Amino acid sequence: MITIYDTEAIEEIRSRNAVQPHRMKLFRNALFKNSADCKTALEMLPEKARADFKTRIDFESLELAERHNSEIDGASKLIFRTRDGHLIESVLLRPKTGRTSICISSQVGCACFCSFCATGKMGFTRNLSAGEILDQVTQANRMLKPENRSIRNVVFMGMGEPLLNLESVSASIDFMTAPQFFDLSPARITVSTVGIPTAMDAFTERFPKVKLALSLHSARQAVREKLMPMAGKYPLERLRGTLSALGGKIMIEYLMLAGVNDQEEDLIALIDYLSGIPVHINIIPFNKYPGCDLLGTPQPEREQFANRLKAAGFDVTLRYSLGADIAAACGQLVQNKRKELIG
Ligand code: SAH
Repeated sequence: MITIYDTEAIEEIRSRNAVQPHRMKLFRNALFKNSADCKTALEMLPEKARADFKTRIDFESLELAERHNSEIDGASKLIFRTRDGHLIESVLLRPKTGRTSICISSQVGCACFCSFCATGKMGFTRNLSAGEILDQVTQANRMLKPENRSIRNVVFMGMGEPLLNLESVSASIDFMTAPQFFDLSPARITVSTVGIPTAMDAFTERFPKVKLALSLHSARQAVREKLMPMAGKYPLERLRGTLSALGGKIMIEYLMLAGVNDQEEDLIALIDYLSGIPVHINIIPFNKYPGCDLLGTPQPEREQFANRLKAAGFDVTLRYSLGADIAAACGQLVQNKRKELIG
């Protein structure tokens, strides 16, 4: 079986069945622009070609296992099962003002082991294929169709480290931005990373318009290493070169943990580290989950921290937790589901 995202193999099937390009366009538009199901899309093709398309193409790389809708803020958490039985998750965000977004996974588990992250507790299983990355968007679009919505923003902030799966992530971005497929603006795609300088450099060279977000979380090397073991391999000093080259093109993520990275010395180190780089800083609240002893910094102190950064001249956004009632932090829901399955 070939997947619907394998454009070369699909072209071969098209040519063998002598399907006219305009019929193929209708078929593609049905699937990727009108969020139709495979039955409706097949009807766009000449009748004699349908059986071959239907039997040879795998239209879904993932199976939806669960859907949880938040009661508070319109977020939906989706758990998908891969064909080989692994669970991954995506989060649909429907901000009242703003575009419908999806937070997608790039790997099954993660090899970075950040101490605050639920996915990090699972270990690494495998990279997702480009088809598995893209199917999260396709299936979300089908779910959104009755609401007259479609995905306009994609963020790689679900399970996994996208820059450690560069091949599939790049192929999926090519597909997302291609006019004949999802036709998403590259500026509406964000790839979030623990901070791998060489991969960040290569990525921006290939995708100059796609946004990068750096999970910084501390500008003190010892603190950062404790939170994010990968920081030992890619020290802050080396990372700074990449940051200054990217300048305003990068977003900084700063998760606030009580007594860990929210003290005066942390603020001073952060201002010093980022001085001269016109970055946008997102201050993120910690999503607590069972099995993790860390505590989030209370909101008034987060606000104070953000105000001090603003006063130092940075562009700062104070984030509030989305989907807190549906365990929307990275990896949490799959972790719960795994526990349920193994009892
Ligand atoms: N590996 C990438 C992308 C996945 S994590 C990265 O590290 O950026 C996406 C974002 O969610 C990161 O900023 C990460 O630090 C944050 N995150 C992980 N666990 C969290 C939690 N429990 N609460 C709040 N944010 C969390």
